[in-house]
Amino acid sequence: MAAPDYPCDPMPRLDALLRDARTGLDPGEAELLLAHVLGRPRSWLYAHGDDEIGEAVVARFAQLLARRKAGEPVAYLTGRRGFWRFDLQVEPATLIPRPETELLVELALGRLPVSVPCRVADLGTGSGAIALALAHERPDAHVVATDASAGALEVASANARALGLDNVTFRLGDWLAPLAGERYELIASNPPYIRDDDPHLGRGDLRFEPSSALVSGCDGLDAIRVIAREAPAHLSPRGWLLVEHGWDQGEAVRALFEDAGLHEVETVRDLEARDRVTLG
Ligand code: GLN
Repeated sequence: MAAPDYPCDPMPRLDALLRDARTGLDPGEAELLLAHVLGRPRSWLYAHGDDEIGEAVVARFAQLLARRKAGEPVAYLTGRRGFWRFDLQVEPATLIPRPETELLVELALGRLPVSVPCRVADLGTGSGAIALALAHERPDAHVVATDASAGALEVASANARALGLDNVTFRLGDWLAPLAGERYELIASNPPYIRDDDPHLGRGDLRFEPSSALVSGCDGLDAIRVIAREAPAHLSPRGWLLVEHGWDQGEAVRALFEDAGLHEVETVRDLEARDRVTLG
């Protein structure tokens, strides 16, 4: 392994800095962190390998690398995460949006009635990922996004402003509580669904994410139970409920939907062929 070009060299080249950083780290992650410190898009790095990098950037980059190696999620270090067509702001108050949640967005878009004004709700919106994707794809829809965390709603509203979306409103409260007396053509949610004794909670990014966004009782289904029970009273006659859940929860979630009187209940699998979203 080549000796690092710094700190002996006070002005390392960008490519050398990245090469050294890649040791013990995913190369893509090292690039995201350096691009963040430089305030440039990641693609900018590729044409600037020869650039000499100043001391302040080197020091800031080294700090972020150390935090990453200690386990902090890249999305919290950069404050950004790609979801759908967006680059969303994310904070430790919000779950980091996952690619599998884009499946829920696609299924929702396929079930929204066309050419009628429709009302959509996203329960436990977090960074706003689902609500903003739906509001962006259906500018004629009005989307209401709820969350019990005021911190999350601040992040979600900042994302809506940054994307120039004015067809989303944010309401503070648990699941469907802020929707009192209203009906929607579609209600979507990526609620917490991990069992409270799941060993994965002690690993990876999950250690740093809000447990209120991840964990939901001893079978992981507490939030989904509330949502399935209360959603029918807030759905219009042909309305749809869509909920993301764990790969081993499809059968249990279908039963909860059916007990709540929902019809046409089915579970859709994600790209890894695992049960991921139930709708009805
Ligand atoms: N899909 C996430 C995970 O298992 C959990 C997100 C959630 O609980 N909604 O990492």
